[in-house]
Amino acid sequence: MSVIGIDFGNESCYVAVAKAGGIETIANDYSLRATPSYVAFSGKNRILGVAAKNQQVTNMKNTVYGLKRLLGRKYHDPQVQREKQFLPFKLLETSTGFVGIKVNYLNEEYTFSPEQCLAMLLTKLKDISATALQTQVNDCVISVPSYFTNNERKALLDSASIAGLNVLRLFNETTATALAYGIYKQDLPGPDEKPRNVVFVDCGHASLQVAACAFHKGKLRMLATAADSHLGGRDFDLILAEYFCKEFQSKYRIDAKSNARAFIRLLAEVEKLKKQMSANSTTLHLNIECFMEDKDVHSEMKRADMEALCDSLLQRVEKTLHQCLEQSGLALEDVHSVEVVGGSTRIPALKALIEKVFHRTPSTTINQDEAVSRGCALQCAMLSPAVRVREFSVTDTQSYPIALSWDASGDGEAPGEIEVFPMNHAVPFSKMLTFYRREPFSICASYIGNVPYLDRNIGMWTVKDIHPTADGKSQKVKVKARINLHGIMNISSASLIESKESPETDGPEENQEKSNENSEPPQNETSNGQPEEEEKKEKKKKQVVKSTELPIESLTVGFSQVEINQYTEQEFKMIAADRQEKERADARNALEEYVYELRGKLTSEDDLATFVLESDRDNLVRQLDDMENWLYEEGEDCNRQVYQDKLTELKNKGEPIQVRRLEFDLRPTIIEEFCRTL
Ligand code: ATP
Ligand code: MG
Repeated sequence: MSVIGIDFGNESCYVAVAKAGGIETIANDYSLRATPSYVAFSGKNRILGVAAKNQQVTNMKNTVYGLKRLLGRKYHDPQVQREKQFLPFKLLETSTGFVGIKVNYLNEEYTFSPEQCLAMLLTKLKDISATALQTQVNDCVISVPSYFTNNERKALLDSASIAGLNVLRLFNETTATALAYGIYKQDLPGPDEKPRNVVFVDCGHASLQVAACAFHKGKLRMLATAADSHLGGRDFDLILAEYFCKEFQSKYRIDAKSNARAFIRLLAEVEKLKKQMSANSTTLHLNIECFMEDKDVHSEMKRADMEALCDSLLQRVEKTLHQCLEQSGLALEDVHSVEVVGGSTRIPALKALIEKVFHRTPSTTINQDEAVSRGCALQCAMLSPAVRVREFSVTDTQSYPIALSWDASGDGEAPGEIEVFPMNHAVPFSKMLTFYRREPFSICASYIGNVPYLDRNIGMWTVKDIHPTADGKSQKVKVKARINLHGIMNISSASLIESKESPETDGPEENQEKSNENSEPPQNETSNGQPEEEEKKEKKKKQVVKSTELPIESLTVGFSQVEINQYTEQEFKMIAADRQEKERADARNALEEYVYELRGKLTSEDDLATFVLESDRDNLVRQLDDMENWLYEEGEDCNRQVYQDKLTELKNKGEPIQVRRLEFDLRPTIIEEFCRTL
């Protein structure tokens, strides 16, 4: 069983595998290490990864991408509405208010959720890994941006479930990068020394993340993260495309924005130009043939022009860099180095800003494109018994402050609210809260502060089966609020605590209160403001404490198990249909290839032409011509068996001729052999 790490990028995904000898990046079916985060639909099958991106321009309405921005979001979320303007495929609002993606698949209209589309992409990555590793792949660690909220994280886990992947951890992208950096560094400071503080800057296709991390030998602790979730390579591309659109309007009288296909082509061309400008400061040319209305377009730009056009983006980069530095509490001289990853940190202006803010030349000691997936693979190996790797302790943080609030009690106790996990709080982490209640009650969790998500609400949990004591008083209830390894906040358990005086007066105080996550991280005790005195008096006596698990009903966003099962089944069916279509296409190709090959040989004097009677040959060539025509007409879309039967029929005629040729070729050797034995 192999363990893998997946970098789920906005533009492309990378998969790395942890093996006994180290970490390796897996190449896909096109021998590329990057698999575009694209899924597409056709009348016959789904097209996933590289092939999906390759056919985008000819199948725009059914080629889906940008899933990272749509996961777990409501249709009316401003981010979804913003994305909608640029996406050439159709988004709609589902009956539950979430995003639906409408496509034409198998010549019918289908509406898939972004989670289902991501599951399709993950299925592809799973398949690529299984083919490369020649083994089943289930356990994985998948990267998420540090700014992903509870709902987005849950949505990603739902996608992974549909794809049959067992996610050991959702790992923040910058933390994965930090792990990939730290694990091989031999010279990290000892436990009593000052930490090595490294800043990581990841600017990818759609977002910028900056993280400050403190390293000691064998461990890392995230200090702070800052992000601009709408600042990546594509934002540079958009500004450049808009600029050229305006220019083409006045120069050629064409409106590229009115033509989705032309705009997509323009985006692809400006991306190429942008990359060239990273390496070159001279004037560069943009030429697109037959762009629109049969017109070829030409323009030019140099790096300085792009920097001027994108100044507002660069200012936001600078702001985010400062934000991270401030939040980390580090002085500039405490920063050991700044490591850059992600494709867009290749933009020279970005590197210059990093140097300006941190007074350090950005380093690239880790692989800029593969660091995230490698960090995920390392983390996966650490969490799985299947592979042994060097131990490295990882303490992450979460990006937004979370508050818990609860309703009033029947005793007249006022409703309350506390900030249970402040910003940049360590993760994973559990906190215990004590309540005194006579009846079931609800706790709500929500984000406070700025969250790039429409709904700040995280969820509501109702603790049930609480009744007054025999003498009508409130019961003591302990509730565990937890942010788990995935960075998902949850009310993970609630217990009724009953203290009874022990009949025995000596011996240790028995405490049956159990934590079901003993090996897990630190826990804090928080009281919700009830008088503590009573508790203190109780503690002095010898008591037996009985803890009874209470049922919790949760109301959070995400698929139910029934839905996941239903989507998993649908995914299985689509996988089977794709496989069938592939086998059908392979059988058709095999027949087509044989037609060309045999005809070529039959008509060549140097090959089979002289090994068959002329009349038979002419007949066979005519049959091959007919077969070729049939393949492009009524035989275009038959099932696999039809092609296989026709191939067998042709081979029955072609092979005897080939055997005659082979016998002829071998005859001198056989005679020679025979003579030698005489
Ligand atoms: P994200 O991290 O936002 O989810 P991602 O991980 O898919 O996205 P990357 O693969 O890190 O993104 O980066 C892709 C982006 O980097 C693209 O926008 C691409 O144009 C840009 N890029 C790649 N090489 C260069 C270069 N040499 N100069 C400028 N930009 C580049
Ligand atoms: Mg990335």
